[in-house]
Amino acid sequence: MKYNIPVLEPDIGAREMALVDDAVRSGWVSSTGEYIGRFERNFADYCGRTFGISTSNGTHALHLALTGLGIGPGDEVIIPNLTFIASANAVTYTGAKPVMVEVDKFTWNIDPVLIEKYITKRTRAIMTVPLYGNPCDMGAIDIIAKKYNLFVVEDAAEAHGSVYQGRKCGSFGHISCFSFYGNKTITTGEGGMCLTDDKNLYEKMSLFKHHGMTPYKEYSKKYWHEVVGFNYRMTNMQAALGCAQLERIEQFITAKRRNNMLYRKNLRDVSSITFQEPAPDSESNYWLTSITIDASSGVSADELGSELKKVGIDTRNLFFALSLMPPYSKNASGLDISVDISQRGISLPSSSKLTESDIRNVCTEIKRILA
Ligand SMILES: *Cc1c(COP(=O)(O)O)cnc(C)c1O
Repeated sequence: MKYNIPVLEPDIGAREMALVDDAVRSGWVSSTGEYIGRFERNFADYCGRTFGISTSNGTHALHLALTGLGIGPGDEVIIPNLTFIASANAVTYTGAKPVMVEVDKFTWNIDPVLIEKYITKRTRAIMTVPLYGNPCDMGAIDIIAKKYNLFVVEDAAEAHGSVYQGRKCGSFGHISCFSFYGNKTITTGEGGMCLTDDKNLYEKMSLFKHHGMTPYKEYSKKYWHEVVGFNYRMTNMQAALGCAQLERIEQFITAKRRNNMLYRKNLRDVSSITFQEPAPDSESNYWLTSITIDASSGVSADELGSELKKVGIDTRNLFFALSLMPPYSKNASGLDISVDISQRGISLPSSSKLTESDIRNVCTEIKRILA
C-alpha cells in the first residue's frame, strides 16, 4: 500500500497524558472528582451556555435530554432523515416516535420549509443535527418551534465549535447534546454532554443521570429515589482527557477547516464531485469533509472508497438514510433527496493531524480513479 491515511484519528499529546495521570493518581477514578465539574463548566462556557452535564456518551446525552423534557410514549419528535442512527434511537428509547423529514440538497440538513407538513397534535420537539459539523438553519427552525410551541434539541455531536450567525452550535434550543467519542473533534474516549440555560431542565437531567437519586440535605434521605433514573455518568479520568482536549480545540478546528479548503482547491476541476455546502452566514467545523459523486463519472461512491482503500486511504460512506434501515423504514416515504445523498456520498480523510501533502495525495488518487 502506498499510503496510510486514516479517515479520522484523535490527537492526544503530553497535556492529555498529564491530566489523565493526575486524575488517576488522585484516586478519584469514578464520577466524582475535580475534572468533572471543570470540564462541564469549561465546555458550557466554550459554547456560550450556562449549565453542562457530562454523560457516559453522546447517545445517553440525547436520551437524557429527551427524558428531561418529559418526552415519552405517544409523543412524536421531528428529526432529519440523514443522521447517525443514535439521533433516532434516543427518541425510540423514550417510547416516542421519530418522524423523519427530508434534508436540503445543498447543506444535507433538515429542510425547515418541509417541517410544518410533519407536525401533528403529538409533535413535542424538533431535533436538529448539524451534519458533519455543518450548522442547521436555526433561525427558520426557531420560528416554527415557537409557532407550534415545540422543544428544540440540538444533536450537536459532530459540531463542536461550528458557528451559525455568530453563535456556536450547542448554544441553540432548549437542550443541546454532544459526543466525545474517539473520532469526534475533541474526545474523552467515550463521553457526552448536555448543555442548557434552563435551571429546571438542568436539575431534572441531573436527577435522571444519577439513578434518579433525590438531592438530600439530611443523612436519612440518602438513597431516596423519586423516579426511575439511569447511570449515565462520565468518569473523572475521561473528564481530565476532555479538559486537555478542550484547551486545544481551536488548533483542531483550524486544521479541519484548512483540510476542507485544500480539498476544495485540489478537486475544484473535477466536475463530478459536489461538496456539502454551508448555509448562509455559518461556518462548519468541517469535522468530516464530505462529497457526493455524480453518476456521470461512472464510478460509485462505494467503488471510489474501495479503490482508495487499496492504496491505503481510508474513507467512510455516508450514513445510510434512516428510512432505508429496518428499524425506521416503516411509514417513511418521499425522502428521495436524503436517500440519494446517502448513496452517492463519501467522507474524506479529515483528521486534524493530516499534512498538506496527505491531502494532495488523496486528491491525486481520487482524480486517477474518477478519470
Ligand atoms: C457520534 C454521534 C452520536 C452518538 O454519540 P456516541 O458518543 O457515539 O454515543 C449521536 N449523534 C450524532 C449525529 C453523532 O455523530
